[in-house]
Amino acid sequence: MNRKKGYITVRLIILNLLTSLFFVLVVQGVTSNVTFATKAEESLRCAECGMTINQDSKFFSWAIDETGRKYFCDIGDFLYHYRKAPQKIKEAWVKDFITGEWIDARSAFYVKSGNFKTPMAWQIGAFKNKGDAERYGKALIFEEALELVR
Ligand SMILES: [Zn+2]
Repeated sequence: MNRKKGYITVRLIILNLLTSLFFVLVVQGVTSNVTFATKAEESLRCAECGMTINQDSKFFSWAIDETGRKYFCDIGDFLYHYRKAPQKIKEAWVKDFITGEWIDARSAFYVKSGNFKTPMAWQIGAFKNKGDAERYGKALIFEEALELVR
């Protein structure tokens, strides 16, 4: 009887630990998204082309590598940069074309379309939902989008 009770207690402790860990991970994820919900006060330059970035642009994107944050004026510039050294990128964010909300670049859907007037003319938009993306053209996953900037 006691052994069974002890077993249940251990199980409860493990469950609690897992729940806490999950909560910490979720909160951290949300935090890194919220950190950049407001604009950076200084003017930012694109890490790929050097152009001053319009932070209101739907094509503005950023990433964190081992040296810190990198900003990009155009989703195509970000993808191009990513392709050169993917192992260095710790996290990457693009804006949902519909809402402007920051979304994880690796789980976004991408469309290349002449409807997108982007700063460096890559003509690539990012979307949180596949259904939204398909309204603009063929919806590509991240790995497929990387092929657009060869
Ligand atoms: Zn650029």
